[in-house]
Amino acid sequence: MKNLFVSVLLDAKAEKKAAASINILNYNTAKAVMDAAERAGRDVIVQPSTGTVRRYGVEQMFAMLDGLRKGRSVRVAIHLDHCTDTALAKACVDAGWDSVMMDFSALPMEENIEKTRAMVEYAHARQVAVEGEVGVISGVEDDIAHENAHPATFEDTMDFIEKTGVDAIAPSIGTAHGVYTGTPVLNYELVERIGKEQTPLVVHGGTGLSVEAFHKLIALGAAKINISTALKNIYLGESRRQLENAKIAPVKFDEAVEKACSELMERHMRVFAGETLPLD
Ligand SMILES: [Zn+2]
Repeated sequence: MKNLFVSVLLDAKAEKKAAASINILNYNTAKAVMDAAERAGRDVIVQPSTGTVRRYGVEQMFAMLDGLRKGRSVRVAIHLDHCTDTALAKACVDAGWDSVMMDFSALPMEENIEKTRAMVEYAHARQVAVEGEVGVISGVEDDIAHENAHPATFEDTMDFIEKTGVDAIAPSIGTAHGVYTGTPVLNYELVERIGKEQTPLVVHGGTGLSVEAFHKLIALGAAKINISTALKNIYLGESRRQLENAKIAPVKFDEAVEKACSELMERHMRVFAGETLPLD
């Protein structure tokens, strides 16, 4: 299957780097992320949450992102993040999205496999890729909340990949969505074992991990790293800062917020390509 999402991930894996996959929120943040990718010279994945997609509409969101990626010097894949709604994911597949992530991780393993496999069948018939999740990644991601993280095992992960045919796998490795209260304990051993397999490994909950942790995960085979909270925080933080200037014009406001978002996302992309830069 020739698919942009798969190509970006396999190329990143082959060069022992990771593609940043960023939860854009709107036009400004999508543009900020794509401009950052061009400056960093890195392919990128833009992955709105289901809530953001519902707010805009499946076709409208695709049209906006597809328009923004045209003529770029790097590849930009358009991906739906954490979806439990098969109808919504199918609508994205039909509208031309490159890939969708199905998150049935809260269900018993057999149901997770069955529902994910059904989406893989639908998507692959249309040259669209699917990411799946094994184990439970804790925290709140949009409208999906998992209170109790439940670690994945190597055996379950390989069984899931084989039975579903997913193109990328997000096993629960100890990361969490949102903000870390302490230093997360990551299961590097599991990352190393899965990293040696063909299917690209996805790290969710990237915000808050250290540069060293990112470099270690990537060296062991992580090919896609998701960033959501860091973008939300800089977006809101810079917005508040700019609004203190009561005379700021709306366009200048947008440009300033976009610039701050773009710079931080560029640093993430460079770190995922091996550079050492501050991420806050
Ligand atoms: Zn996630």
